[in-house]
Amino acid sequence: MSVHVAIIGAGLGGLVLARVLHVHGIVATVYEAEPSAMARTQGGQLDIHEQDGQVALAAAGLTREFRAIIHPGGEATRVLDRNGAVLLDSPDDGTTGRPEVLRGDLRCILLDSLPGGTVQWGKKLASLAALGGGRHELHFTDGSTVTTSLLVGADGAWSKVRPLLSSATPDYIGTTFVETYLHDVDTRHPATAVAAGSGALFALDPGQGIFAHREAGGILHAYVALNRPVEWIAGIDSNDTVAVRARVAAEFDGWAPALTALVNDGETAPALRPLYTLPTGHRWERVPGVTLLGDAAHLAPPAGEGANLALLDGAELGHAIIAHPDDIETALAVYEAAMFPRSAKAAADGHDMLALLLGARAPFALLDFFSGAFVA
Ligand SMILES: Cc1cc2nc3c(=O)[nH]c(=O)nc-3n(C[C@H](O)[C@H](O)[C@H](O)COP(=O)(O)OP(=O)(O)OC[C@H]3O[C@@H](n4cnc5c(N)ncnc54)[C@H](O)[C@@H]3O)c2cc1C
Repeated sequence: MSVHVAIIGAGLGGLVLARVLHVHGIVATVYEAEPSAMARTQGGQLDIHEQDGQVALAAAGLTREFRAIIHPGGEATRVLDRNGAVLLDSPDDGTTGRPEVLRGDLRCILLDSLPGGTVQWGKKLASLAALGGGRHELHFTDGSTVTTSLLVGADGAWSKVRPLLSSATPDYIGTTFVETYLHDVDTRHPATAVAAGSGALFALDPGQGIFAHREAGGILHAYVALNRPVEWIAGIDSNDTVAVRARVAAEFDGWAPALTALVNDGETAPALRPLYTLPTGHRWERVPGVTLLGDAAHLAPPAGEGANLALLDGAELGHAIIAHPDDIETALAVYEAAMFPRSAKAAADGHDMLALLLGARAPFALLDFFSGAFVA
């Protein structure tokens, strides 16, 4: 196969695609904007599901490496109300099929599995031009240029490749996460450590909540969630740590101190993360020589599927290329035919889950969901 596969973005989706192609002897180059693998902490624990993320890692031949980085105990779940009362305490009995790993560890496994030079760091795509016949010319911010006969946009929410296929852009969905960290929690924040338990914590009230996860090394990593209009977010100076903390803390006035410690006592600057999504069911007509995967294709609310879908997209696109090495258009059409309905359903489910978590019946709708009694 003489096609040059150019993948924009070394997130989980782009890397698994490169790995699956490599396993089958097809060379790809991943162009990544960040200057190095260590340029940014990858933070955050991901639950990797049996039906998608784990399938992709098996296709990449990395199941053993994946098993070695699972965080034991991470599948435990607690639901609390704003007063800190425990409404559900579900231990990690290893049966959920959703083991937890750190995103950074998973990315390292994928990077280590690729031949040196596969990922070209510091290559931020600035613009592209269609040359006809499925070929594209890529222009990077460092002044370099590459021509490719198969372009894959794995470049996330604000994809530069997407406009070749679609005019859709992400919209704010009315919910903002504020990301915080507590370290050495058993010693420094014992009440919060006890409240959170060994895995995931959902402390919920209508319109707002605190999602936290215990990570290895005594770390509590939290997303403080608020349903607020875009003007509310715009009114906060995101560079002013004191102002962000005070503004968010005011919204949690009266909550249990063990929970508000995740708002007030964070040991890193709280990061505002307004949530954006593409339209549910986003799709495009076939355009020769280019496709998208992961968030670039189907950015949805972060309800625990995004990374898993990106992994599966990467693996399935790899398999489609391997199955049709001399007919790229058929490969891309086969990949997209399965990816479009899968991601549309996941996006709809993600919106439903966010509404359930932060809706008028919080926290009880989540209890119904876990007991199987929830009706949308
Ligand atoms: C707050 C939050 C919490 C989440 N929690 C979870 C969770 O628990 N479980 C889960 O499954 N999903 C979760 N997600 C979703 C998940 O993070 C994404 O769906 C997933 O990372 C998508 O992977 P990707 O490979 O498509 O894109 P990304 O991970 O976004 O990777 C894109 C890559 O492209 C690079 N890039 C971007 N632009 C360019 C350019 N112009 N040129 C070159 N490179 C470029 C970026 O630097 C990046 O490395 C969460 C998302 C958010 C926002």
